[in-house]
Amino acid sequence: MRVGIIGLGLIGGSLGLDLTAKGYEVIGVSRNPETCSKALTKGVASTSGVDFSLLKGCDMVVIATPIEYILPTLKNLVPYLSPYTVVTDVGSVKESIVASAQEILSNFVGSHPMAGTANSGIDAVEKDLFKDAPCVITPNDNTSVRAIALVEKMWLSVGCKILTTTPTIHDQAVAWISHLPVIISANLIYSCLGEKDEKVRIFAEKIASSGFKDTSRVGGGNPELGLMMAKNNQKNVLNSLKEYQNKLDTIINNIESNNWSEIEQLLKTTQTKRNDFLIDN
Ligand code: NAP
Repeated sequence: MRVGIIGLGLIGGSLGLDLTAKGYEVIGVSRNPETCSKALTKGVASTSGVDFSLLKGCDMVVIATPIEYILPTLKNLVPYLSPYTVVTDVGSVKESIVASAQEILSNFVGSHPMAGTANSGIDAVEKDLFKDAPCVITPNDNTSVRAIALVEKMWLSVGCKILTTTPTIHDQAVAWISHLPVIISANLIYSCLGEKDEKVRIFAEKIASSGFKDTSRVGGGNPELGLMMAKNNQKNVLNSLKEYQNKLDTIINNIESNNWSEIEQLLKTTQTKRNDFLIDN
């Protein structure tokens, strides 16, 4: 199968690396010519360049640009596609993309692989990034069975587990488990930086260990990605943040009032229930 990938950064580049290793013919297109040269030397694609005409004859094209460029990229891409080419994206939000994308191209199926690292760009590509990761597919009643099957086949071949839902449920769920953690983790780092006593802050920096490393990881990632999540999933992110704020106020009240049994109950519940959210539970 000949697969085109537009946007050769962490996600697009890593996908190209794994698809190439699985024997797919990968055509990589990106904005920057230097990125395209690196894609060839790193084994991300067998053909690469900045021109969409390279994508003629592809069975499938994956749009892996930052979220804001997904729809404009699809519009520019359409003239180069055959009527049979299926297009998918990897965007971290789905509601603002999928309906408009299907109006532009009926062979569009939204997808979102739940994999990533704190790094970005072609130099961040990783082999096996998608192995055992959930990949959400968001077709609707008008999506053809063939288009869904092709997209599923590609994600399965790089080791993803497929889950299907609506764009609305996807966006509400990722607000909780992906976008809210980025904001909270960023605010954790930001709050620590706000320590007014410089001696304390510098000492804290010296002794921060595995707990801080775990809880600050997603807040220390690609700023462009976090901003895009907040902007493009604004309603759901705000909903989750406000609910988080309510719960935080309750925790503050309980600590101020020496309500230790409430705090203990909360920690026992979270100790038990954390596993429900982990893939390998
Ligand atoms: P990234 O590492 O910054 O890669 C995006 C790449 O797209 C850039 O390296 C850039 O390459 C290229 N690009 C930017 N604008 C372009 C345009 N207009 N046309 C063609 N190429 C363009 O970002 P990423 O983390 O891979 O994210 C890409 C997409 O994956 C986003 O939609 C994001 O929501 C989604 N996603 C990210 C994660 C994650 O954890 N990172 C997880 C799942 C899904 P050059 O400028 O170097 O050519």
